[in-house]
Amino acid sequence: MIGARVRDAATSLPAVPAYLYDLPALDEHVASVRRALGAAELYYAVKANPDAELLRVLAGHVDGFEVSSGGEHAHVTSLFPGMPVALGGPGKTDAELRLPHHRLHVESPNELRRLLATGLEADVLLRLNPDLPAEGAALTMSGPFGMDEEGVAECLPLFGERVRLRGLHTHLASGLDADQLLRLAGILLGAAYDEVNLGGGMAVSYAAPERRFDWEAYGAGLAALGRGRRLRIEPGRALTVYCGFYVTRVVDVKRVRGEAYAIVLGGTHHLRTPATKGHDQPFTVLSTGAGPGVADEPITFVGQLCTPKDVFARNIRTTARVGDTVVFEMAGAYAWNISHHDFLMHPKPAFHYLRS
Ligand SMILES: *Cc1c(COP(=O)(O)O)cnc(C)c1O
Repeated sequence: MIGARVRDAATSLPAVPAYLYDLPALDEHVASVRRALGAAELYYAVKANPDAELLRVLAGHVDGFEVSSGGEHAHVTSLFPGMPVALGGPGKTDAELRLPHHRLHVESPNELRRLLATGLEADVLLRLNPDLPAEGAALTMSGPFGMDEEGVAECLPLFGERVRLRGLHTHLASGLDADQLLRLAGILLGAAYDEVNLGGGMAVSYAAPERRFDWEAYGAGLAALGRGRRLRIEPGRALTVYCGFYVTRVVDVKRVRGEAYAIVLGGTHHLRTPATKGHDQPFTVLSTGAGPGVADEPITFVGQLCTPKDVFARNIRTTARVGDTVVFEMAGAYAWNISHHDFLMHPKPAFHYLRS
């Protein structure tokens, strides 16, 4: 369900497909997250969406930005000189290890040795890849990320005056609710580190967008667990996903072997999220069209790409006519910036920002 402001804006765009970002809604959402977190620090994981307009809104609320490449680092430090930056990511180059930072998230003993070889000063959090049960996660971050307890033990004697150990970093899994995250945090915080970055991965539901992560419960839980320690989190998706919309128009409606399809301008080369996650992207059809259509029956919404993977949503009971406006919701994170824009050389969407 979209609000009246987004609906009005979507139907008065000069051209579609287009992205529409609701900046006041983002501002309000991040302010409420910030309030719920109390003393815990909030960084935004820039990889979820590096759009400068969104970052400007976020910068008014967050304590810093988490970046995972030299490119993100350059982007953020040029927009917000002096804002704390935590630099992470597997496979950092020597040039990346030399970048100025508030915290550097070191991912392996060899990476730490390369950092020491630069001779530069650094404030390090060791990224632990803990062996914890993350049931129900959409994506567990096991595999090559961070190091196990042995890797951490190998790192500990290497620290000194210039390269200082500040604490632990971890990013447990993606798609966890507040209770699950707190249970995992409780296990991790059993270790004696002054500073712990618990990562991101707060759940969002594409199937039930109104079901939101319980920031109040998470903030209260962190306050109880923190006790004298410096706690930090770095969510991406759960901060920006709700403020973005991909607006397009139905260009054809047809029935093939009994199945009804609505074909919209653009496609998953602009909004890859449903293809990568294999879900139905939530959407609203605005009846702006007068063309032929199908009414109140299961319709599959596809884009203009010549591949069967170009599907936004399957068999959703609704009505669609040629000329109708379709507003795909939850397109504010891992959407445009993870998509394969040049595939088939269709025109790129324009970007619009609601400011009040
Ligand atoms: C991707 C990532 C995040 C953000 O994850 P979300 O699921 O978008 O909240 C935070 N920290 C690290 C290390 C990541 O890789």
